[in-house]
Amino acid sequence: MISRKNSEQLFEKAKTYFPGGVNSPVRAFKSVMGAPLFIKKGDGAYVWDEDDNQFIDFCCSWGPLILGHNNEKVRKKIEETLANGTSFGAPTKLENELAELILSRNPYADKIRFTSSGTEAVMSAIRLARGYTKRDKIIKFEGCYHGHSDSLLVKAGSGLVTFGESSSAGVPEAFAAETIVLPLNDPEALEACVRELGNEIACAIIEPIPANNGLLLQEKGFLTKLREICTQYGILLLFDEVISGFRVAFSGAAEYYGITPDLVTYGKIIGGGLPVGAYGGKAEIMACISPDGPVYQAGTLSGNPVAMAAGIAALEQCAQPGFYQDQEERTNYLVDKINAYAGEKGYAFEIFSIGSIFWIAFSDKVAIRRADEIDSDMTPFKMLHSELLNRGIYIGPSGYEVGFISKAHTKEILDTTFPAFCEALDAVFAKLK
Ligand SMILES: *Cc1c(COP(=O)(O)O)cnc(C)c1O
Repeated sequence: MISRKNSEQLFEKAKTYFPGGVNSPVRAFKSVMGAPLFIKKGDGAYVWDEDDNQFIDFCCSWGPLILGHNNEKVRKKIEETLANGTSFGAPTKLENELAELILSRNPYADKIRFTSSGTEAVMSAIRLARGYTKRDKIIKFEGCYHGHSDSLLVKAGSGLVTFGESSSAGVPEAFAAETIVLPLNDPEALEACVRELGNEIACAIIEPIPANNGLLLQEKGFLTKLREICTQYGILLLFDEVISGFRVAFSGAAEYYGITPDLVTYGKIIGGGLPVGAYGGKAEIMACISPDGPVYQAGTLSGNPVAMAAGIAALEQCAQPGFYQDQEERTNYLVDKINAYAGEKGYAFEIFSIGSIFWIAFSDKVAIRRADEIDSDMTPFKMLHSELLNRGIYIGPSGYEVGFISKAHTKEILDTTFPAFCEALDAVFAKLK
């Protein structure tokens, strides 16, 4: 057993300062065993905690760190920028550079606006959709997470499922009433909904690769159908690519599936480890945003130069030829081996993956595409989490969360992960018997 003495002490202190001892709920380790690890340092694929334990990190800050920790080019660009000050509340050329880097490779958006988080990006894009269509209702899909703004905290997965809540206190009924929740991968439910309410719906928001409540990979036919229906009823299609953008392909799931949304949101990877979000779309729709149009949205630290610098240095590396193929190859290299091992052993266990995102499921189903198909008994995951920590492997502390492989996760590192992972699985299944 690893020692968590220092982390435990820090957590006791933290609980006197913050609700639950944390500044974001899933970090509290409530769904797994023990105190959360307080991280001291990260480098490449590794993190070290305050008790000097070393881990191979598959959480990667919940997705932003596609290049691993402390990437040299990102750090240098941040340092260079920092030397000139940290914020001006005036335009800088770094904003142009990051926008150019993104838009020149992205046929799905003509214009973009930077925010400071994914939540803000999605909240603003929804307001834009409502302002543009002059309609109030929105469609969201059960199990998709779109950040914590009021009208989107309805059947949203992630930390909410982990804590057994389907929604959040403090969200007025009237807000939630404007949000229609539909099951994923169910074209009939979608059609029935638009037949009745189609002309009142401003937008349909979806994680085209739902990855905040397990990894609920959609059939491409469903996404195509959604695109068609939206076009037919004048509903804007909003791809929330905060997790899939720059992850499964440079231009995200839109590029991966070849489907063009009307609006798109980004976050996580786009800031190279600093707080950045963005929303974008067709020029005609983006023209509704203030100061060009009547939909207001702003931010004191939006387009922050240091964050822009980190984003530029990160995305320049992601834009290199073969980057995403290599990411996917290394992910499959590990995932296929573990799945084959679990198969040989007859374990009810499967790791699902796409690109460099993976999800650990204690299930013998061949595909899980809807939130209600997930087994809610997270006991085996809880055990696995602790067995993995004891063997130097750090994954997100919830069975509903996905894991990530970064550029720093070399084959050699994955080769050390494999036997440790198999041992941990053996330990779990021995106890489950
Ligand atoms: C993480 C995430 C968000 C929220 O982004 P924050 O930066 O945490 O506010 C929204 N949508 C999706 C799909 C996400 O994965």
